[in-house]
Amino acid sequence: MNIAIIGGGIIGLSVGWQLAKKGLKVAIYERSKAGQGASHAAAGMLAPQAEMGFEDIEMFNLCRKSLEMYPKFVDELYSDTGIKVEVEKTGCILPGFDRDDTERLRRLFDFREKVGLDVIWLTGSEAREIEPFLSPRCTGAIWIYDDAQINNRLLLNVLKKAFVICGGKLFEDHEVENINIEGKNIKGIYVHGSFLNYDTVIVAAGSWSKQINGIPEYLQPPVRPVKGQIISLRLNETCRITKVVRAPDVYLLPKSDGRLVIGASVEEMGYDLNPTAGEIYRLLERGWQAVPAIYDLPIESIDVGLRPGSRDHMPIIGNSDVNGLYFASGHYRNGILLTPVTAFELSEWISAGIKSEILNGFGIQRFYKETV
Ligand SMILES: Cc1cc2nc3c(=O)[nH]c(=O)nc-3n(C[C@H](O)[C@H](O)[C@H](O)COP(=O)(O)OP(=O)(O)OC[C@H]3O[C@@H](n4cnc5c(N)ncnc54)[C@H](O)[C@@H]3O)c2cc1C
Repeated sequence: MNIAIIGGGIIGLSVGWQLAKKGLKVAIYERSKAGQGASHAAAGMLAPQAEMGFEDIEMFNLCRKSLEMYPKFVDELYSDTGIKVEVEKTGCILPGFDRDDTERLRRLFDFREKVGLDVIWLTGSEAREIEPFLSPRCTGAIWIYDDAQINNRLLLNVLKKAFVICGGKLFEDHEVENINIEGKNIKGIYVHGSFLNYDTVIVAAGSWSKQINGIPEYLQPPVRPVKGQIISLRLNETCRITKVVRAPDVYLLPKSDGRLVIGASVEEMGYDLNPTAGEIYRLLERGWQAVPAIYDLPIESIDVGLRPGSRDHMPIIGNSDVNGLYFASGHYRNGILLTPVTAFELSEWISAGIKSEILNGFGIQRFYKETV
């Protein structure tokens, strides 16, 4: 088996690392620098519970399974590289600030309880005991003590190292221009105008996954860019927030590197990567309403990324009816969280032909069935 992965984001790197660990011949082609796309801009929340609305329970189960796999994932990375990436159980508060918010949270809380999740309802003052920097306007909150987070930027660097240590070949500044398919078989890819022979290709090109030439129209993953802007402040003695706060329309995430990440916008703006005054103003205003002490914190950076959003906002993981063509894309708002399940399960499927049941319903087939 000779495998090419298109895209060196967190998904391409982690699937590539797992395949290389199994002794397979794997190359990742990244058109710029690996780990600089959405995966770099992300906040790094591993929060299946906080993210959960009333949507598909299958998606929640996939997210929860991936969170359970994280300790094994980072342990394996440690044994390959000697670098420890911590999964931090910061816990997450979802506060409400008026009756409308609080009623909405109550419904979310009841739903979580009904499906058996570990959540606690807090009064405003109980919430402030857990996170003293929360606004005194807080009227009630959901406390999710086992949602976690990770330093996604460190994770990307370590994944890159692990992939190469395990024998993978990483080609940066190498754009895949075309996938060559003959009949129902993969033949290879074109890079810088040259044909390169491969029998297996994994499309992990994030929000650009639909743009790669050569994929038959019915198999093009329906993935679009969903712009996210995020601002990092530097924590200091005036604000020592320690819990993740997910307020209405904004989250505040204290990172172990001393940043406070405030995010994120969700915008349909095509491939526009410009930060804009209006969205940053809105994030800061909402953030300040939830945690007033951010007011004097220095601004460190503004990052913009493009989430790969599929038509139903669920990931596309698995094979296709072209032999050797696989997809690992469309991870939308949960790509960091879904990294272990994507990497472990897809690499097992490709190398041993064993498809995990947890991936049922997440294939590209769900889209082309619709149109047949
Ligand atoms: C602001 C923001 C906050 C987020 N917060 C979180 C969070 O807290 N938790 C969470 O789980 N998720 C979060 N996400 C979502 C997460 O970042 C994404 O789901 C994830 O990074 C997708 O990873 P990827 O590898 O598919 O895409 P990317 O990281 O975008 O990587 C795709 C790569 O493919 C390359 N590429 C594209 N076309 C080609 C080609 N033709 N040839 C070669 N290379 C190509 C690109 O250059 C890019 O490097 C957030 C996203 C944003 C934008």
